[in-house]
Amino acid sequence: MSLTVLMNAGPWLSVPPPGYGGIENVIATLVPELRRLGVRVVLASVGTSTLPVDERVSVFPDGQFSALQRPYNQVCGVAQAHLAGVARELHSRDDIDLVHDHVEAVGLATLAAMGPDAPPALHTLHWDLAKHPALYGHLDGGNRVRVNGVSASQLARAPQALRDHSVGHVHLATPLAVDAHRRPRPPKGRHVVVLGRINPGKGQDVAARLAHRCRFPLVLAGPVGPYHRPEDLAAAGDEARQNPDVRFFLDEVAPHVDGDRVRWVGTVAGQDRDDLVASARVTLFPLRWEEPGGTAVVESLALGTPVVATTRGCLPELIDHGRTGLLTDDEEQLGELVLAAGRIDPAQCRREAATRFTPAVMAQRYVELYERVRQLAPAR
Ligand code: UDP
Repeated sequence: MSLTVLMNAGPWLSVPPPGYGGIENVIATLVPELRRLGVRVVLASVGTSTLPVDERVSVFPDGQFSALQRPYNQVCGVAQAHLAGVARELHSRDDIDLVHDHVEAVGLATLAAMGPDAPPALHTLHWDLAKHPALYGHLDGGNRVRVNGVSASQLARAPQALRDHSVGHVHLATPLAVDAHRRPRPPKGRHVVVLGRINPGKGQDVAARLAHRCRFPLVLAGPVGPYHRPEDLAAAGDEARQNPDVRFFLDEVAPHVDGDRVRWVGTVAGQDRDDLVASARVTLFPLRWEEPGGTAVVESLALGTPVVATTRGCLPELIDHGRTGLLTDDEEQLGELVLAAGRIDPAQCRREAATRFTPAVMAQRYVELYERVRQLAPAR
C-alpha cells in the first residue's frame, strides 16, 4: 500500500511514553502494525520519542507533560507551538496523504483551520470533548477533517458537530493481546488492582473504601497529577495541593491508604505493571466518568485478569458481563462483585483479548478509515 500518514502525537510525552501515557501508548501500539501493512509513518512528537518510524518532526526537544498543570490558556500555547511546527511541515511538502491527529480539541481546531491545501485528516477522539464546546465550531462548513471515536458510547455522547463528521469508532488495542491465550499463566495472588491515573473519574476512593469494607487487599497503581512516586508527592509539600488530582488523592483516597490492606504504589511500568495485573484476581474500575476507550481494561483481559467495573462509557462494549467480567450500575455492589469474580475464567479473558483487541485488528480498522476519509475529502 502506498500511503504516507503524518501521525500527530502532540508535545506532551515521548512515544512510547516513559510510564503513564494513554494517547502515546495508543500510537506506539498502532504504528508498528500500520508500517507492517505498508503505511509510511511520519511521527510528529517530541525529540525524545524512540518509536521506529519513517520520518520524524518535532518542535519541543522533550515532553511538555508538566505544562499540563498550568492554566488552560498556557496549555493551549504549548499545543499551538507544536501544531504550528506540524502546519509548517505540511505546507512545505506534498507527499503526506493524510494526517492522523491525536491532539485533543486544539489539534482539531488547528487542522480544521488549515484550509483546502492541507491533506485530509482523521482526528481520533481520546477524551470527552464536551469540556471544550467552543472548539467544535471549527468543524462546521464541510472541511477536510473527520473524527473517529475509541468506542461507540464515546461517539454517541459527543456533540452533534463531531458526530456529523464521524467515520465510526475503533476500539483500543494492546500488544499484550497478541497470542494472549498461548502465554503461560502466572500464579494468581489475592490482591485487586486499580490501574490508571488517580482521579475522581477513575474512582480510586470508592475502591479504597470497599477494600476495607469487603476485606480484600487493594493495590492502587498510577500517577497522582504529575507525581509518579509516593516519595515525590511527599517531598512536594503543600504546593502540590494546587493540583485537583492531588487534592482528591490527599482528601479522599489517602485516608484509606494504610500500606497494608490498601497501598498506593505510584506509576508502575513495563514488566512490573504486567506482573501486578496478571497476578491480580480482579482489575477494578469504579468509574464515575464515562470511560471513553479503556486501554487498561483491554490490558487486563489480555493478562487474564477479569474486570469488575461500573457500567460506564465503553465498559459494556469491552466486557461481556458474566464471561470476561462483571458490571454494575451501583458502585456499592462492586465489593461483592470482586468477591464473585472468581467464577470468571481467566483463559476466556485472554481469548477475548486475542480475538478483539490486538494491534493488527486496530491497524486494519484504521486503514479502512483512512481510505474512507480520503474518499470523503474534496479534491485539493
Ligand atoms: N498505566 C501504566 N502505569 C500506571 C498506570 C497506568 O502503565 O501506573 C497505563 C495503563 O496500563 C494504560 C494507560 O496508562 O495503558 C491508561 O490508559 P487508559 O485508556 O486506561 O486511561 P486514560 O488515563 O487514558 O484515561
